[in-house]
Amino acid sequence: WVVASLTKKHLPLARFIGDGAAPSAPKFDVVVIGGGHAGTEAAAAAARCGSRTLLLTHRVDTIGQMSCNPSFGGIGKGHLMREVDALDGLCSRICDQSGVHYKVLNRRKGPAVWGLRAQIDRKLYKRNMQKEILNTPLLTVQEGAVEDLILTEPEPEHTGKCRVSGVVLADGSTVHAESVVLTTGTFLRGVIVIGLEMHPAGRLGDQPSVGLAQTLEKLGFVVGRLKTGTPPRIAKESVNFSILNKQTPDNPSIPFSFVSETVWIKPEDQLPCYLTHTNPRVDEIILENLHLNSHIKETTRGPRYCPSIESKVLRFPNRLHQVWLEPEGMDSELIYPQGLSVTLPAELQEKMITCIKGLEKAKMIQPGYGVQYDYLDPRQITPSLETHLVQRLFFAGQINGTTGYEEAAAQGVIAGINASLRVKHKPPFVVSRTEGYIGVLIDDLTTLGTNEPYRMFTSRAEFRLSLRPDNADSRLTFRGYKEVGCVSQQRYERASWMKSSLEEGISVLKSIEFSSSKWKKLIPEASISIVKSVPLRALDVLKYEEVDMKLLAKAVPEPLKKYVESRELAERLKIEATYESVLFHQQQQIKEVQQDEALQLPKDLDYLTLRDVSLSYEVREKLHFIRPETIGAASRIPGVTPAAIINLLRFVKTTQ
Ligand code: FAD
Repeated sequence: WVVASLTKKHLPLARFIGDGAAPSAPKFDVVVIGGGHAGTEAAAAAARCGSRTLLLTHRVDTIGQMSCNPSFGGIGKGHLMREVDALDGLCSRICDQSGVHYKVLNRRKGPAVWGLRAQIDRKLYKRNMQKEILNTPLLTVQEGAVEDLILTEPEPEHTGKCRVSGVVLADGSTVHAESVVLTTGTFLRGVIVIGLEMHPAGRLGDQPSVGLAQTLEKLGFVVGRLKTGTPPRIAKESVNFSILNKQTPDNPSIPFSFVSETVWIKPEDQLPCYLTHTNPRVDEIILENLHLNSHIKETTRGPRYCPSIESKVLRFPNRLHQVWLEPEGMDSELIYPQGLSVTLPAELQEKMITCIKGLEKAKMIQPGYGVQYDYLDPRQITPSLETHLVQRLFFAGQINGTTGYEEAAAQGVIAGINASLRVKHKPPFVVSRTEGYIGVLIDDLTTLGTNEPYRMFTSRAEFRLSLRPDNADSRLTFRGYKEVGCVSQQRYERASWMKSSLEEGISVLKSIEFSSSKWKKLIPEASISIVKSVPLRALDVLKYEEVDMKLLAKAVPEPLKKYVESRELAERLKIEATYESVLFHQQQQIKEVQQDEALQLPKDLDYLTLRDVSLSYEVREKLHFIRPETIGAASRIPGVTPAAIINLLRFVKTTQ
């Protein structure tokens, strides 16, 4: 990876100071460009850190717009939201005020990989986000399209690197900035596609960003092209829900935010989702009309994990694919058919929809469409999200090759914090892979790059048993409060109370010991195995699946009853108990891998034939293609699990 140093001759577009911001131009510490999911978090975070911040975006009324799915969270994504929230970010709190159907995914698996998710009322989310952003102290919001960056001569101590010092708007006006965060999403040279028609647009109804894309390219940034798409929207009253499988929300609803006691709406007032499937007729329509579908012929990469229906039909022919019919909001007349992202000509989209069970009479209100856009190779940014090429210029969100609101929000909060720290000459705030999914996301992007839209999964995190949604506050809130000041006093006090209550609760649970036969009498519901002469700690009893803190506190009211007064505390004690021994074991494994990080892997190792080493085929295939040099490098390959690394490490050590 070679980063070219910049000199004036490389910069025909971006301006140098002589012809830069007007002396009378407004001055801000941090300027954030773009009011999407990355931009709102970045602007609010910089302001929370005490920086005078300006959010410049095309339109105030699209701040917080959900361009695609009316939902937040999911597996891995819910973890990111919890971490954004732990740093006092916005999206989790706003979701708790705007959701219409809350459901935790992966419930059958352990709480470490539960995926907090909710259908969100689009209008409500936007309204609540705009209210929050427009009322954030130190944050000014201005409408405008940024066309160019203003750069200063290289600073003497960083010879060769120039520095961003402001922005130029489409009307020619300028703004001084000490740091700039770019969060332009799918807008850089965006083109939307339906059938064979293509129009320049950042998303339906919005102009693309062309000037800025040219500036970045002229500056020497390596630019790639990606694509994504969105399904058609369907009139609710035209769907026959009565013949479809209904999914009801969870009761109780689990809030996204650590500071929300509950969500704004009762489970019984929430809206259901419905499940239907595609069928062979859908495949036929898609396959017969591929010649009318430019987007699908494009060789640029689309999202692997949220593919269009055309890609699914081409990759997995003759299968029935799920289509979830999701509400767009409490009083919305629209249904979002999740799984049906499509770019066929509009009339063929309608024909395809009406072949599907429950949608026979469906009315299409807006066709699906695809979008192709520029992204910047994320290996051009540091773990603080500052670019290597231009000092004080930060990139966050879809511009870095990611997909999804949560991935964008996570980068936004980190970029906003670091843009502010940079102005104050403070060291950067970096989250490591062992501390959070945010660390995993940024490390993957900045070290491996990406050539397809990147989305978060729990399988990307090596230490997922410790990076749980329930404990994001203990991992990040204290750092956010003490190191950067982006966390409010109220949140800090709440996290401190939780931390000390958990520590106290665990030590009390360790101190209560009875024989197993006494426990069996106290809690007959539990399948406790009787082991004579070995006392059993309350903490061990809590590990039984059928035991929770309520049962335990009923059996031993003193001193346990105070730990069930808070629902969250009681649940977190149960989770801590569940993972106690596994985590101890994992810590030992982490140490083992850390000690041998530099261990060289044999160059001639044939991974594909390593069948006796307990490595899945997927892991063996990844190792075969990537051929990491060391155990440390192998452990950083996305999808190569910690268990696989331990097995590989032990195998290599025994064969050496
Ligand atoms: P955005 O939310 O796009 O926000 C960008 C903001 O920057 C906008 O407010 C825009 O007005 C502003 N802006 C841009 N240029 C300028 C400029 N020059 N000056 C001032 N303001 C500017 N995600 C998924 O997870 N799954 C999907 O299936 C999926 N499908 C999608 C389909 C479509 C058609 C689109 C458009 C997006 C889709 N997404 C999907 C992506 C999801 O919407 C994004 O990941 C997320 O919104 C990215 O957030 P962001 O803040 O980076 O950008």
